[in-house]
Amino acid sequence: MGCYGDPIECSYYDEYSCNRCNREFRSENAARQHVQNSPRHHPCDVGSCNYDADGREDLLDHWRQEECRIVCEGCQKGIMPHYFDQHLADEYVCGTCDRHHNSYSNLEHHKLVHLPLTLECWGCERKFATIPAMMIHLESGSCTSGIDEIDLNQSAAMCFQWKHFVREDLRDDLLHRVDLDQEYQLSYPFECPGCHTGFRYISGLFMHVASPSCNETLDDFAMAKLIRWLKNRHA
Ligand SMILES: [Zn+2]
Ligand SMILES: [Zn+2]
Ligand SMILES: [Zn+2]
Ligand SMILES: [Zn+2]
Ligand SMILES: [Zn+2]
Ligand SMILES: [Zn+2]
Repeated sequence: MGCYGDPIECSYYDEYSCNRCNREFRSENAARQHVQNSPRHHPCDVGSCNYDADGREDLLDHWRQEECRIVCEGCQKGIMPHYFDQHLADEYVCGTCDRHHNSYSNLEHHKLVHLPLTLECWGCERKFATIPAMMIHLESGSCTSGIDEIDLNQSAAMCFQWKHFVREDLRDDLLHRVDLDQEYQLSYPFECPGCHTGFRYISGLFMHVASPSCNETLDDFAMAKLIRWLKNRHA
C-alpha cells in the first residue's frame, strides 16, 4: 500500500513506514499518530492539503505561499482565513508593524510611534510626534532647557483660562511651585475640561484629551488656549 491520502503526504509512506524517519508501523493509524506527534513532522491541517513540513518555519512558509492559513507576522501563528480579521481585532494588532497589544488604549498609544516626528520641543532640538509626547519629555526633567514639571504646573495655573483645567483648591500650590508629592500623598491638580476626570500630571491631562477615550480634543477652546499659553512662556 502506497498512498492513503490526506492528511499524510504519500511520498513519505510506504507500507505504513515513514521514509523521513526511517520507521515502520503496524497500522495506518499508528503511522498517522506518529506524524501527529513527531517533532520531525509538521503536517498542514487544512482541508485536503497534504503538505508535511519538516519544521515550524517550513510550515509557516508553506502557509505564506499556499495560504491554507494566513500567517500573523506579529505572533507567528497560522490563522484560519475566515477568522483572521477577528484575530486582528481580538489581539489589538497594529496595522503598521503587526505588534499585539492587550487593550485598545495600548494599541492607540502604540500607534503614536509610527507618526512622523514633526513637532520640535519648546525647549530643545528634540522632535516629537505629538504634544502629549513632548509634555512627557518636558515634565520628566530630561529636556536640556531645564523646563520641568514644576515650571509647567506653575504656568498652567497662571493661564487666564486656568479654571477649565486646574482644581481651584490646588491652584495656589501650583502657583507657588509646591512639590505636590511631598505635600500630599496623592493629589489631582488637573482636570479634563470636558469630562472633569482628575489627573496627577499635566501630561496625563494631555494624553487623556488627545485619546479617543474623551470627546474633548486638544483643539477645543480651553486646551488650545493652554497650549498657546505654555508655548508662549516656554518656547
Ligand atoms: Zn516520521
Ligand atoms: Zn497546506
Ligand atoms: Zn497574531
Ligand atoms: Zn505598530
Ligand atoms: Zn526638550
Ligand atoms: Zn475628558
